[in-house]
Order: sequence, then C-alpha cells, then structure tokens
Amino acid sequence: MSLNISHLENEIIDQFLLDDSNRPWIIGFSGGKDSTMLLQVVWRALLKIDPLLRQSRRIYVICNDTLVENPRIVKFINATLKKIQEAAIHYELPITVDQTTPQLEDSFWVKLIGLGYPAPNKFYRWCTERLKINPTTRYITEKITQNGEVIILLGTRSAESSNRAASIKKHEIKGQRLRKHQLQNAFVYAPIKDVSTNELWQYLNQVSPPWGGTNKELITLYRNANAGDCPLVIDDTTPSCGNSRFGCWTCTVVNKDRSMEGLIDNGEEWMSPLMEIRNFLVTTRDNPEIYRQKERRNKTISDNLWGPYTFETRVKILTRILKAQKTIQETEGIELITHQELVLIQYHWFRDCYFKTKVSDIYNTIYKNRIDMSKQEEKFKQESDMLKQSCKNEVKDVELIQDLLALQKTKTLMIRKRGLQADIENRLDQYLEAEKKSKK
Ligand code: SF4
Repeated sequence: MSLNISHLENEIIDQFLLDDSNRPWIIGFSGGKDSTMLLQVVWRALLKIDPLLRQSRRIYVICNDTLVENPRIVKFINATLKKIQEAAIHYELPITVDQTTPQLEDSFWVKLIGLGYPAPNKFYRWCTERLKINPTTRYITEKITQNGEVIILLGTRSAESSNRAASIKKHEIKGQRLRKHQLQNAFVYAPIKDVSTNELWQYLNQVSPPWGGTNKELITLYRNANAGDCPLVIDDTTPSCGNSRFGCWTCTVVNKDRSMEGLIDNGEEWMSPLMEIRNFLVTTRDNPEIYRQKERRNKTISDNLWGPYTFETRVKILTRILKAQKTIQETEGIELITHQELVLIQYHWFRDCYFKTKVSDIYNTIYKNRIDMSKQEEKFKQESDMLKQSCKNEVKDVELIQDLLALQKTKTLMIRKRGLQADIENRLDQYLEAEKKSKK
C-alpha cells in the first residue's frame, strides 16, 4: 500500500497526547467509506496508546439518522454501530456511540405531509438543515456546554472535490492540524484529508475493521449502488448531501436516484415501492399547477410562486406511504413513518382547517389493526375552534399561537420538555423579526 498508515496513526497518537486539555473527540460516522476509514485508523491508533493515558479523553462516535434514511443502509449502519459499541467495551476504549435524529416537528413527513412543504430541489433544499445539520449541531453544542471545548473528527478528504479542498484550506490554522469550526469552541480535525480515493479503497480492502467482521458488505453496497458518498453533514461547509446511497431514500434533489436503482437491480426488489414514492414526489414537485395551492402560507398569491401542497396531494402521499409500509413491514419489518409523526400531521391538518379526511381514516382503510386517534382528534379540533373564536379580533396572532402550541405538542408527543423554552424564544424572535420586516 503506497499510503503510510503508521505515519497516519502516529499523527493521531500525537494529536491525542499533545492536547492535555482532555477536550472530547466527536467522530462523525455515516457508515460510508470515508468515515469508516477514519474510525478504523483512529481505533488502531488508540490501541497503541498506554491504556491509562487512553482513558484521559472521551470519544463520541455520532451517527445521524434523518428517519428517512435508505432502510437497506439503516440496517447495515445499525448493525455496525452495535458492533462498534460492543467492541469498544471489550477493548476498554473510551468510546461511546450515539445517534442523533431530527426533532419531531422538523421530520421530513411532518413538514411535507403535515405542512405541505414541496419535495426539496436544489433551489429549495429545506431538508438538510432540519434533518442533518440541526441534530448534530445540538449534540455538539451540548458537549461544548459540558466540556468547554470539543474536537470534531471528520473523514473529509481534499481528493473528494475541489470545493471540499478549498473549504478545508480556508479553515485551516497555519501549522496546526486543527481548524476552526463555525461553532464557537469547536475545532475540526481531518486526519485522512490527504488520502486519495484509491488509497482509501486499498486500505478498506486490506484492513478489516477492528470492531469485527470485514469491509466486504460496505464494498458490495458501494458496488451495487452506483453513486457518491453522503458524509455526516455538520454545517454548510461540509459537502452537500443528496445523490448518494448514504442519504435519504426520499431525496428528490437529484432527478434520478441511481443508488436506489442500483440496489433494486442488484436484488433488493422490495425497495421498488419506495422508488415509486420518490418518483411520485418528483412529479408533485415538478407540476405545481396540479399538486400545489395557489395561495401561499402568508396568504399572498403570485404568478410564479406556488403555495404548499394541496390537501388532496398530502392525502395521496400519505396513502402511498402507508400502503408501501404495510407491504414492507410484512416482509422486511421496516417502518416508514412513526405514530408520533402521524399524530402531528393530523394536528397540522386541523390547524389548517382541513377536516374532510383524517389521518386515521387513511390508516384504517389500509391496515386491519385500526388506530384510534379520536380523542386526540377531538382535542385538536376543539383547541383550533377555541383559538379562532378567542382571537377573532386579532386574526394575525392565531398563526403564532398555533405555532407555539404545535411546539409544545411536539414535546408532549416526545414525552420530553427539554429545550421547549429555547424553542419558544426562537419562534417568538422569528415572529418579531418578520413583523419588523413587514412594517418596513
Ligand atoms: S439526502 Fe436529500 S433529502 Fe436528505 S437531507 Fe440531503 S438533500 Fe435533503
């Protein structure tokens, strides 16, 4: 192998021992080729450090689940994460594996079906921030609050693209391995930034993961799904996601999902219903005159700007998802949309005064084991009516109060109140900002 692995490992050991502040390391792991190599190299370096010194720093391996990840990949990544955590305990490495997910109100389906956000494209890519950046930022911020500073290890490589090379260069601190991160008190370390793609594949072929097994499945996944990589996206300087087998199966940012097509062609036929849904989302996005409202959320109508999806479209999408889920659940045991998402979607439908079709009606026509959401439905409806009645002289405040209620509802559904106050304050700031702008 032309790559000097010992040199790479020694650099990591050096960085680990050099910094005596014990700032935790956060390793971004997506299950893709780059982060797999990164974690393997770090792991092997750690094993060379004296066990007592090794315990001086906590290492967090974080993996973000957008909740609309390609289910084939989710299976693979979850099995890998389990192996990593078990092996870390076995080898007494100070490694903790954590998974981050988007907040319920930011979930892909709640936004798309509940609020009618159109399927994303490269001009309106509302998803990356909500599904990927925010969950990891929250995690990193939490660790900064606990520890003062953190070092984030990423598998970014200059060889991947010229943009990436420019971004790495821009944030580099001269003469140091660490570069600044947009978040205060966070630094980025990219140990494999100079490794070429050929060297990376050679390494993964020749060196088995120290947590057990081989890289065969990973290599096969890449071979079967013919597209690029989707790394852990931690901010807008990391390369954009989409067009990848390690991305969301719902991704409409590219017109054709070659990775899903590749997997289906190579024997994963059960994914065909997912492909049909994704293609339908592309159709809805590209034909606004059929699938979207003329009126936008701010009540304005303009010739070339369309509003959210019509309720008929949202009903159609939900029906397709539940039908596909029923089939896939039976054969693969995979859930595409959660019960909590369904409840919040219903909440948004009532909030938008849509009473004709209920989420439970759609569900119960597809599933034999019916869901009963009547108590929640009744409560949401009463709340909505009451609010409109009490704000009839201040109609413009209804939206804000509904927003705040939706936030609170989300936390109740998640049985977790943490962060509610900050979320409410953010929402009020956004509202005041919008008010100021509209008065200018
Ligand atoms: S993979 Fe596609 S759908 Fe998922 S966050 Fe990225 S751009 Fe959005």
